[in-house]
Amino acid sequence: MAQVDDTKENLQKCICGQCPSFNQCMKDQGEGLYCAKGKSSCEFDKEGCICGTCPLTPEYDLDGVYYCSIGKAE
Ligand code: SF4
Ligand code: SF4
Repeated sequence: MAQVDDTKENLQKCICGQCPSFNQCMKDQGEGLYCAKGKSSCEFDKEGCICGTCPLTPEYDLDGVYYCSIGKAE
């Protein structure tokens, strides 16, 4: 597992915006790419996590979920 680079390219690949847990607060804050940027500043309910199907998961050999809650992948 590698640290995820906080780049514009990676933010564009992030699929958090399609996730059932991604709420209006997260959208309003322009959040995403939590695996690189760290946890969300919003309160939210865990209604599923789709990181497993994100292109960055195989690219960086990630094995976690809910980075919006646990913080960035190390
Ligand atoms: S692994 Fe999860 S947090 Fe990281 S870019 Fe993909 S969807 Fe977003
Ligand atoms: S890190 Fe996972 S749970 Fe959080 S918004 Fe992204 S896909 Fe959804």
